[in-house]
Amino acid sequence: MLPYATYIVDFDDFIVVMGRFEKYNVDLKGLKTSSLNLEFDLDNAFFGDIDGEEFQKGAVKAVVTVKRSRDVFDFSFDLKGKVVVPCDRCLDELEVEVETENVLRVKLGEEYADEGDIVVVPEQDGDINIAWYLYEFIALALPLKRVHAPGKCNNDMLGKLKKHSAGSVADVDEDGEQEVDPRWAGLKNIQFEEDN
Ligand SMILES: [Zn+2]
Repeated sequence: MLPYATYIVDFDDFIVVMGRFEKYNVDLKGLKTSSLNLEFDLDNAFFGDIDGEEFQKGAVKAVVTVKRSRDVFDFSFDLKGKVVVPCDRCLDELEVEVETENVLRVKLGEEYADEGDIVVVPEQDGDINIAWYLYEFIALALPLKRVHAPGKCNNDMLGKLKKHSAGSVADVDEDGEQEVDPRWAGLKNIQFEEDN
């Protein structure tokens, strides 16, 4: 069990964080019309607050449409813009264009459940915060390989990386295998007596 005070601190953080993402809250129960259109300009402040692993900067226009039929809400996300990720080769900033469309079905139910592309929201809360989905859908749309165009890498960074990796490369032989620790290498020469 954590001390009681820890819960209090976490709760304060939670309130601060929720405050920042308040405008990404969608009141499902209170939705009076059969469809709703939302637009967001996701900027560096948003991505910084989200604090995701893949990227923390960008400028993405998000158009979110919600269509309601009884207690089912079909969200469609249209995301278009640019985000900044580290280059795989030089680690310097690299701007990547993103354009992606995603759907999410949300239902009102007894208790919260996330079943992949269907999310159940407790009826008594009746709302969902889509901030994390906005980030996640963009992260999923990023290319696997992220490198600057030929000749556009940061040469200073490349130089430093090369120097740094030169030291560790020496420890690896041509097969890419780690060389055997000399203390253990001697074991190879020990002949075990056979019982016959
Ligand atoms: Zn690069």
